[in-house]
Order: sequence, then structure tokens, then C-alpha cells
Amino acid sequence: MKLFTVGPTEMPAAVRAVRAAADSVPYFRTEEFSALMLETDEWLRELAHAGEGAKTVYLTASGTAAMEAAVMNVLTPADRVLIVNGGTFGQRFVDICTVHGIAYDEVRVLAGATLTAELLAPFATQDYAALLVNIDETSTGQIYDVKMLADFCQRKNMYFIVDAISSFLADPLDMVASGIDVLIISSQKGPCISPGLAMVILSARIIAERVAGNNIKSLYFDFKDYLRNFTRGQTPYTPAVGICIELHAALERIVQVGLSEHLASVAKLATDFRARLRELPVSIPDYPLSNALTPVVFVEPIAYRVFEILKAEYDIFVNPTGGATANTVLRVAHIGALTVADNAQLVNYMRLAIEQARNEAK
Ligand SMILES: *Cc1c(COP(=O)(O)O)cnc(C)c1O
Repeated sequence: MKLFTVGPTEMPAAVRAVRAAADSVPYFRTEEFSALMLETDEWLRELAHAGEGAKTVYLTASGTAAMEAAVMNVLTPADRVLIVNGGTFGQRFVDICTVHGIAYDEVRVLAGATLTAELLAPFATQDYAALLVNIDETSTGQIYDVKMLADFCQRKNMYFIVDAISSFLADPLDMVASGIDVLIISSQKGPCISPGLAMVILSARIIAERVAGNNIKSLYFDFKDYLRNFTRGQTPYTPAVGICIELHAALERIVQVGLSEHLASVAKLATDFRARLRELPVSIPDYPLSNALTPVVFVEPIAYRVFEILKAEYDIFVNPTGGATANTVLRVAHIGALTVADNAQLVNYMRLAIEQARNEAK
């Protein structure tokens, strides 16, 4: 099996090694586990350029829970927010704000369009508490211009809430330089480890101004409790212990390799794959793309069939797409333990799968 999916991903050898070594997950209310968590957290905040006084909340949950918990802990129904909605995950922020009674306006990025300053301009004269964005909208692969969004937030004195679930460790990101107050991460995507652990990194200012004094109506998702417990490297409730150990191994490897080298290797894979696609009867969108994945646009409506053939005939998994583009777009990930040789093999099998799908359609 080979995974060209955004998450779960093909896991790095260093992560597989700790998974293989773990016959039982260890007991965790110990000094040893606390030390592992504190070391992991130093690396995580360093890799995010989180800055002075930033703190991380470790949730045993998937990424959506971290999005929802972030909204619950930093916003209230007295706020009005602006949401960039360019696909499935932008829509998820809309749904979360609806559930929690938080008023919002949407910057709609239509299919194929690029998020530009012109799209933001109509919202410049209104007051918002925060901007919510999925910096890589994973459903389309579009990477939004973080500097443009950061400048907008700074000019308007808004909090900047960034879901970087697929972009973290694939594209450059700097919380301090971009004034990011809340950064949302999920284990199975950027970090390329098992699903089940989600992280929310909070800036010193959002902790002081929003989290510390909040009045959240939730026991499990009360960040105040997580922050208090983490001063000693612990969580209030049982963490995903095995995944925490995987995260330690994954981040240790990236810190050893060096973040810029790591990012360069993901970028190289993405560039290599996009160049190889010229051999196939497909295209890629012309909006800016995250290094994390490439949307592959088919001429004929055979995308889902190509997904099925790759799976059935070659034991290769790519991401199908939901909704209106299900039959015309597949997404191929460049995160995880993949190589240029893997890209070459995938493109070869894609060629065969396209031929087969075309023959079936005759
Ligand atoms: C995958 C993803 C999510 C949702 O994560 P789950 O772990 O499936 O809950 C949220 N935002 C983005 C940008 C994603 O790519």
C-alpha cells in the first residue's frame, strides 16, 4: 500500500519505528511522559515560530474538534467574525460559528478563483473580532496569501485564527511574523502521524485577552484547564498517549533535518509531481497551491474511476474529491514519506488508469 493522501499519510520511518516498538502504550501520569510532552512542545512551538508566551493545548480529538474548541474558547456570541470560505473546510468554520451562535460574514472564494485583495476589500470598512481561515483550503489545495490576511487583521485590529491542518510543516509559516493568535494543527496531516491528536497553539495575547477569563460552557474543551495542566507536561484527561509518542519522534526528526530543509523537500516533491503531470491528459488549477497537495483536473468525468482503479489494481491511494468536482478532480499529497521515484510510479499508474477508465467509458 502506498498513500498519496493528505492524512493519514505515508508515515516516516522514524515514526513507524516508535509504533513498532510500542507493545503497550505506557502509563502517562509520570515524570517521564511529562518530560516527553514538554520536549515535544518546545519543538512544536519552535517549528511554528510561536513566540514568547505562546502555549499549546493538546486535545485527544480530530482536527475539527480543535477548530470548534478554538472558536468556543476565544469567541463569544457578542463577537462578529469574518470567515474565508473557499471550500469544505471554510464551510466548516461557518457551520461551527452557526452552532455556537457567533455572527459572521463570509469571504467567498468561488471554485477556481484566487483569494485576492479585491475579494477582501468589501469587508474592510466593517468591524470584526477575528478572521478565521484555513490557510491551505485542503479541499481545493489553494494556499491563501498569509501576508495579505495578516496585514488585513493588523490594520483592523482583529484576531487572526488560522487552521493550518494540512499546511503545517508543508508550507512556510511564522506565527509571530504573521501575528497569528490561534494556530490549529492535527496529527494525521502536517505531522504525518496517526489520527487522534489535535493541537491549538495560542499566542500570549489571545491567552491574556480571551482564554484566561473566558466563561466556556464545556468541561472537556475548556482550554484554561489544559493550560494549567500543561505547565507540568500533562493534560486534564487521558491524552492519545501513543500518538504523543509518535509526535515526539516526528518532530525530533524534522528538528534534526532542519525545518527549511524539510520544507524544501516537500516543495521539491510537489514541483516534481506537477512537472510530471504534463505527460498526462490532465491540468492543475492556476490559483496558488500549497506544497501539501496537488489537485489533478481531468478532462473527462473519470476522476473517481481513476481513484478506484489506482486502489484496486495498484494498491495506491489518492484523495477523491467531494461534491461537484467528484468526477473531475483528484488530489495527490506530497506530505509523508514519499519520494520522486514514488511520484514517477504514481504518474505511470495514473496513465494506465486513465487509459482503462477511457476504455470502459467507450
Ligand atoms: C482535514 C482538515 C480538517 C478536519 O480534520 P479532521 O481531522 O477530519 O476533523 C480541518 N481543516 C483542514 C484544513 C483540514 O485539511
